[in-house]
Amino acid sequence: MKAIRVAQFGPPEVLALHEVADLEPGPGQVVVAVKAAGVNPVDTYIRSGLYQHAAAPPYTPGIDGAGVIAAVGPEVKHRRVGDRVYVAWSVSGTYGEQVLCTEFQTHPLPEGVTFSQGAAIGVPYGAAYRALFQRAHACAGETVLVHGASGGVGLGAVQLARAAGLRVIGTAGTDQGRAVVQAQGAHQVLNHHEPGYLDKLADLTCGRGVDVILEMLANVNLAKDLTALATGGRVAVIGSRGRIEIDPRDAMGREASILGVTLYNATPQDLASMHAAFVAGLENGTLRPVVSREFPLAEAAAAHHAVMEANTLGKIVLIP
Ligand code: NAP
Repeated sequence: MKAIRVAQFGPPEVLALHEVADLEPGPGQVVVAVKAAGVNPVDTYIRSGLYQHAAAPPYTPGIDGAGVIAAVGPEVKHRRVGDRVYVAWSVSGTYGEQVLCTEFQTHPLPEGVTFSQGAAIGVPYGAAYRALFQRAHACAGETVLVHGASGGVGLGAVQLARAAGLRVIGTAGTDQGRAVVQAQGAHQVLNHHEPGYLDKLADLTCGRGVDVILEMLANVNLAKDLTALATGGRVAVIGSRGRIEIDPRDAMGREASILGVTLYNATPQDLASMHAAFVAGLENGTLRPVVSREFPLAEAAAAHHAVMEANTLGKIVLIP
C-alpha cells in the first residue's frame, strides 16, 4: 500500500509518498481501508519536530481519517469487515491507503455522512467538545463566543454549542468565513479583524458579557477576552501561537477562569463520552462536518502549507 512517511522532522516537503507493507491486525485491532484522512494544524507541529513526544521518525502522520473496515484481528467484538467508520487516533497514522487501529479508535460513520466528513471529526470536534463541555462545563442557556469559528475546530464548536442550547456568537476574518459560520448555526457573527469588534459583545449580551469563550488564537486575544466575560465566565484556550501579557485584575473582578485545553489529556472515558455524542449528532443531523478542500494523498505537503494559511473555511482532507 502507499503511505506518506516522514523520515526526519522538517518543513512540509519532508512528507513523501512511499510503497510500504500492507498492515495486519493484531488482537483487538482492525485495519481500515482509508478513503479520506484529515489534516490538522497539530500534524504540522508534529512534522516540524515541535511535539517530539508525539512521534519519532520514520513515521506515517495523521490522527483523523475515515474508511471501511478491511480486516479484523482476534478478540475484536464491535467491528466487522465492511463497516463504515471514522478513525480518531490510530496505531499506524492515517495518511495512507490503510490504517491500523484498536477497535475503540474507530467509530461508526452513519449513512449520509461522507468519508471526507468522517475525516473531519476526531481532532476538531474532539477539541471543541473537550473545551465546551469537559473543561468549561458550558450549559444550555449560556452564551459562548467561538473566537475563530470559521476553522475546523470553530465550526465543530458552533454546531455542538447550538445543538446543546447555547447562544452562539462566532468570529471569522472574511465575508466568506462569516457566511459559513452563520450557515452552521451561529446566532451572531463578528469580524475578528475589525477594530473594536469585541465591544459589540456588551450590546449582544445586554451588558452581561459572555459566559464562555473558546479561543483559537490566545496570544492575540486573551487579554481582551478577559474583559468580555460575564461574572463567573470561562476562557478555554484551544489554540495559541505565541506569548501575551494580560491584566489579572480583569479575571479577579469577574471571578473568571482561564482553562487550558489539550485533547491529548482526554481519558479513555472522556473519549468514549465525546464520540458517543458525535455519533448521535451525526445520526440526528446536528453535526455536519464542513470540508473545504480535498487534496490527493501525494500532495500532503501542499495540504500542510494550506492548513497553516488563513481562511481554511473548514476542514482540509487528503484522499488516497
Ligand atoms: P484552522 O482550521 O486553521 O482555523 C483557524 C481559525 O483561527 C480560523 O477560524 C481563523 O479565522 C481563526 N483566526 C485567525 N485569526 C484570528 C484572530 N485574530 N482571532 C480569532 N481567531 C482567528 O485551525 P483549527 O483546526 O480550527 O485549529 C484552531 C487552533 O486550535 C489551532 O491553533 C490548533 O493548533 C488548535 N488546536 C488545539 C487543540 C487542543 O487540543 N488544544 C486541538 C485542535 C486544534 P479566519 O481564517 O476566518 O481569519
